[in-house]
Amino acid sequence: MKLHILGCGDAFGSGGRNQSGYLVEASDRMFLLDCGPTSLLAMKRAGIDPRRLDAIILSHLHGDHFGGIPFFFIEFLYQQPKDKPLTIAGPPGTETKVRQLFQLMYGNGNNDKEIPPTCFETLYPGQPALIDGIEIHPFPVPHQTHEISLGLKVVYEGKKLLFSGDSAWTESFVDQARGVDLFLCECSFYDEQPGMHINYQVLRANLSRLECKQLVLTHLGEQMLARHGELPLKFAMDGLVVEF
Ligand SMILES: [Zn+2]
Ligand SMILES: [Zn+2]
Repeated sequence: MKLHILGCGDAFGSGGRNQSGYLVEASDRMFLLDCGPTSLLAMKRAGIDPRRLDAIILSHLHGDHFGGIPFFFIEFLYQQPKDKPLTIAGPPGTETKVRQLFQLMYGNGNNDKEIPPTCFETLYPGQPALIDGIEIHPFPVPHQTHEISLGLKVVYEGKKLLFSGDSAWTESFVDQARGVDLFLCECSFYDEQPGMHINYQVLRANLSRLECKQLVLTHLGEQMLARHGELPLKFAMDGLVVEF
């Protein structure tokens, strides 16, 4: 299984990086974990046909994580229609927010005929779901106070991928990371205590407890980017392909 990192930047475009978008390529499926505003652009830059996308699975509904969906909609409406419906899964409120965003950006979306064929699914924390044949284990992570943010464990073709989404450190990551092939973990800051994101000092203190086969840091802010190469952990890079 391959993970194409379309975007590993934060909401601020730190380091000129694209916003969140992680494309998983399996033998018979292609699905995106989060869909930042730059995801379609990055997919085309990587030479991957957007029509191959089967599903978009969202960790939470912040703009840098779902704001790219309208561009996929207009791509599939006006440029290259897909053969099968796109599946979009995310925390409660996903369908409403995606439609509202499309409405704001392009003036339509309330009517099903105004968006490309799409199956919306809701992910509830603690309730495993089968999304277009992909096993998703969503769990709550501390990132927002008014809406639900999810960490996502994805199981497909015998491989396990854990994605933190955006989150402060939580003990859940210790349990969820056990035995996974790849843990894609946000690490927005180096030593600040911003509350709703992980900083490197907290991660380092817990590193020996993370029993995953590979750990890749992502959603990197300026503080972390300034230390690229100095820290002993793998940093995500736009365009990087990670095999797991
Ligand atoms: Zn974010
Ligand atoms: Zn966020």
